[in-house]
Amino acid sequence: MFSKILIANRGEIAVRVIKTCRRLGIATVVVYSDADADSLAVEMADEAVHIGASPAAQSYLVADKIIAACKRTGAQAVHPGFGFLSEKAEFAQRCADEGIVFIGPNPGAISAMGDKIESKKFAAAAGVSCVPGHIGEIADVAEALSISEQIGYPVMIKASAGGGGKGIRVAWNPKDVEEGFPAVRAEAAGAFGDDRIFIEKFIESPRHIEIQVLGDKHGHVVHLFERECSIQRRNQKVIEEAPSPLLDPQTRAAMGAQAVALAQAVNYDSAGTVEFVAGQDKSFYFLEMNTRLQVEHPVTELITGLDLVEQMIRSAAGEPLAFGQEDLSINGWAVESRIYAEDPYRKFLPSIGRLVRYAPPQEGQKDGYLVRNDAGVREGDEISMFYDPMIAKLCSWAPTRTEAVKGMARALEDFHIEGPSHNVPFLAAVMDQERFISGQLATSYIKDEFPDGFSGTEPTPLQLDILAATGCALQRVLARRLGSRRTDWTVVVGHAKRRVRFEAESDRGLTVTLLDEGRSLVLTDIAWRPGLAVFRAVLDGVAFTAEVAPAAEGFTIRHRAAKARVLVLTARSAELHEKLPAKAPADTSKLVLSPMPGLVVSMDVAVGQQVREGEIVCVLEAMKMQNILRAERDATVKAVNAKAGDPVAADQVLVEFA
Ligand code: ADP
Ligand code: ADP
Ligand code: MG
Repeated sequence: MFSKILIANRGEIAVRVIKTCRRLGIATVVVYSDADADSLAVEMADEAVHIGASPAAQSYLVADKIIAACKRTGAQAVHPGFGFLSEKAEFAQRCADEGIVFIGPNPGAISAMGDKIESKKFAAAAGVSCVPGHIGEIADVAEALSISEQIGYPVMIKASAGGGGKGIRVAWNPKDVEEGFPAVRAEAAGAFGDDRIFIEKFIESPRHIEIQVLGDKHGHVVHLFERECSIQRRNQKVIEEAPSPLLDPQTRAAMGAQAVALAQAVNYDSAGTVEFVAGQDKSFYFLEMNTRLQVEHPVTELITGLDLVEQMIRSAAGEPLAFGQEDLSINGWAVESRIYAEDPYRKFLPSIGRLVRYAPPQEGQKDGYLVRNDAGVREGDEISMFYDPMIAKLCSWAPTRTEAVKGMARALEDFHIEGPSHNVPFLAAVMDQERFISGQLATSYIKDEFPDGFSGTEPTPLQLDILAATGCALQRVLARRLGSRRTDWTVVVGHAKRRVRFEAESDRGLTVTLLDEGRSLVLTDIAWRPGLAVFRAVLDGVAFTAEVAPAAEGFTIRHRAAKARVLVLTARSAELHEKLPAKAPADTSKLVLSPMPGLVVSMDVAVGQQVREGEIVCVLEAMKMQNILRAERDATVKAVNAKAGDPVAADQVLVEFA
């Protein structure tokens, strides 16, 4: 076994690997860029080596610097995490040449499987069912058009080296191919330094189901069952679970057998994942193999009781697998929510900034469920523009799916982040949806359920009570500070107005009598003081958490995905309030605003130009993603306020129409 391992990665996965090494008594070294100098991973590792500037191309992607860091610190092995160098066969080979053990599969398996075009050729030859398509490179738009025609629309244009949902575009018609092919090519060249493109049939509304495999250097390969990762936005996973609600034991065994056969065909000798798209009828087609640890590996760990990082280290050290397929079984159900710095209210666009507040729920066993949170950040850390905007991976486990989903909903309620925009309210909305609870998943889920984007959910009757009671408790604390003993108020939640009377024996309890309904809301264990953004209490025996902020005349309160303005007014103010005209939102229909902070890649219109609806106005880049902004109607350009190369802020006016 190794005595010192270097981790060639950052963020939560670096922290994840350190935790296992500590448990196994292995010393750790992390490498870090300028942006990560004060990171949690650097703090936790036994040693840390600075390897360069913040852009990954100058640090985490430079093999020479990683090898030099191993030599300098005497690390015997490298864990690459995911992303960065994890699927680069040349890097694995280079390690071997330098006498350093790569904690991952052998270079031959990576090159056979680590590239989408190559792996599809290989899988087809090994008898694995594949998505119909053109498995080969495509030279130009003309060829892309003729191939798409042959396959039949819709098709998917994909970068062979793609990953993380980048370098993928669906084309429904020739025009989409004309636009999409060069865009995917440019994105692939920029993000992966490899612009090979292929095209395959786009399977509509499928499910994403993948099999975790594990091999050793002695010819053994087992599978650790499936994960379902159908909840995706921009073709990137956001909620995953294990096992899949779709599979029956026969289908599970068939998929597992194909995955193991494919892995065995390339002498696979580490942890890896064979991804499939599956029809609702349980038919399945091979998508790609990820020859590395997967982001969502914790859900598999939670249902199998295995530590995948430990298994990878043991395999790399030459130990044979300590168990066979017959020793493995599924225990309970696990769900993972990826918490991202992104704005769900604005098409999930990436966000950046300092984590002014970062308060995850406590890990460990709760009432009927278990919480695990994998993160690489602390309060005060910066989510920078240089890397993936993932903040944390929150997991829940319980004996059944229903309880695991409930546990996740509760854990999300207890996750508080301030600073960058984040997707916690969105994740909470999904956990409360009947369709998700019943397991009717598809990769189109987000598009189906939020066709006009996410704008929060309408409060349920219970949530109306929670919002009203919380507003009353806040008001009582504030009023008492001003010496007021008033007991009769009117609470307004959105448009719903209720007359209430307060009764309170102590600071930690409040009974709010709903005068027109003949019932009371009884709050106990109130934990809040002015200035706090998190309000905790127990309502009629059930503990809850809400996020609260002062707003004009009252508060903004969010419980899960329901957010409302809550006003607690005197009867007189309530009457006046009702008569106030509703404020119309500012008219932005003649403006093109930057949806996020980023860089202008191209400005495609000029002053005086006539544009048609749907025409490209400009292209922005943020977090290595290109975003095309289009005209929402026919118009004439009156002003252009930015040019290619300009950095722009969120909501900055880029173009004005007459
Ligand atoms: P990545 O390397 O970015 O993970 P994948 O090839 O695994 O790329 O695709 C990412 C996601 O895109 C899949 O999980 C699936 O939801 C969707 N997808 C990929 N290929 C197809 C396809 N041919 N038809 C339908 N959906 C697809
Ligand atoms: P999966 O493992 O499920 O296929 P994705 O494809 O969504 O997950 O994510 C893998 C991607 O994560 C990489 O391609 C890379 O863009 C990104 N990544 C790389 N390193 C890190 C890191 N340390 N933390 C978070 N994300 C990372
Ligand atoms: Mg994939």
